[in-house]
Amino acid sequence: MSASTPLLISPNSVLANALLRSVDILRPRIQATRPKRIEFVVGTQINGAPHLGTNLVQTTAFLLAQVARREFSVETSVRFGALDNAPHDVVLDPETHHAYQQTYFHALGKAGIGDLIGTYYRAFFDSLSEAASTDYTLETYTDQQAAPGFRAEFLRTLERLEEIRWWMAPSHGVVHTRLPCPECGWAEKRAERTKLVGLGEEGARFTARCFDHGAYEVDVDPETDAYLDLATLYRNLVKERLLGRDTETMHVMLKGGDWAFGCQLVDGALGVIGTPGHQMPLRIFTPQVLAHTGAKLSKSLLRERGKGALPADVEPWMLDTTTWPGGTDHYVDVLLWLVGELLTDPKHFFRSFTVKELGRLMTNRPADLEQRPRAHEMGIYKRYFDLIKAGTKTTEIRVNDSSRQRLKVGDLLRFRCRDEEVLTRITRIARYTDFEEMFDHEPLSSVNPTATREDQLRNIREIYPPEREALGVVAIGIELATPALPVESVS
Ligand SMILES: [Zn+2]
Repeated sequence: MSASTPLLISPNSVLANALLRSVDILRPRIQATRPKRIEFVVGTQINGAPHLGTNLVQTTAFLLAQVARREFSVETSVRFGALDNAPHDVVLDPETHHAYQQTYFHALGKAGIGDLIGTYYRAFFDSLSEAASTDYTLETYTDQQAAPGFRAEFLRTLERLEEIRWWMAPSHGVVHTRLPCPECGWAEKRAERTKLVGLGEEGARFTARCFDHGAYEVDVDPETDAYLDLATLYRNLVKERLLGRDTETMHVMLKGGDWAFGCQLVDGALGVIGTPGHQMPLRIFTPQVLAHTGAKLSKSLLRERGKGALPADVEPWMLDTTTWPGGTDHYVDVLLWLVGELLTDPKHFFRSFTVKELGRLMTNRPADLEQRPRAHEMGIYKRYFDLIKAGTKTTEIRVNDSSRQRLKVGDLLRFRCRDEEVLTRITRIARYTDFEEMFDHEPLSSVNPTATREDQLRNIREIYPPEREALGVVAIGIELATPALPVESVS
């Protein structure tokens, strides 16, 4: 693709107009609270194979973690929440016609959930993690609700139930707190007969009715193991309120764009329970993937209306991404390229895309994307880039942050400078406590053949402030891996 025909054209918007880069949306909070770490949080219902929209949100989490680490000089990671409380089965009570549901966790058990995550997500996340040099953790909703902090936060919201219930359920004011029957694990879907009967220092007591086992009582306190299945809005309220209390790690929720509507209700509830401004959730809404009608691409549409409801532009892999015609690494590399393109301009990122337009973008991906070997990537100034390309700079110096700790001898390392890149192979790795110690051991000329030790120290300390140098220093031995070729389509 030539530089004269842009890949993407997007109109301006209020948000895009306010930002130079999409990641700048995090800057006000970072300036105000100076977090030690940023964690990008993404939750996914694990009810079967992921579709493109789901994988786009997840890919964005990893890519933004990588971008934010560089931009804000702070450690970043991704936390993936596998929502195993998604309904697996719903049945109607034959007498009352109340709906009862069983979660994926209750239907499949812990091992079954582990298998499901393994089938659909583990390889995808491992590949994303490697390509974006970003660590991730994985937790299920079942783990989350069992954590004392989450349960304590839930109990605190119960004290304010009168204030939040209309935000959580604006049409009828009944909050859906599902407490599955201890005998069979089924729970009333809309919690019609689930009552809070006691609330005190020691916890909460609920009564509920099972369609099979009759009335039962459930005690919820931070230590009990009674399963707490909160409906989507309430779960988000408790989770975001809890994460907002963390003073060291800043949490950023990644959500599909359709969530922007629903978050108004969560914010209403956070407001009435007096959540301080700097504890309000930070959220980044990712591009929605739309059918030609403008409706969100969804598997439920397919389930309810059959294949006929799908527009011709929808390719099978878009609805079940495990059918992508290629390996996981290839799929991940294409997605990272795509999201990378969207992130080049806030106008491209804070908007929606039809499947047809996304299909067109994917078709216009660089022809060599398939052949490009997986490599760590680093941006670098032009003067150093030229020395590497000429083969005269054979040691690169960086601070030893989480992405550098992944470097291994033999790995490929791609240096980028504007439109150029050069591929190298790592020949050795040496770690030091600071730049002084590093220069005591590393041959000066291999770092920069044209500058003195004093000049080099001054230059590198202009790039890395003391708090970054405190992470330690890594010297990376490199050799050219292939002849350097300019890449046209990188902007
Ligand atoms: Zn039961």
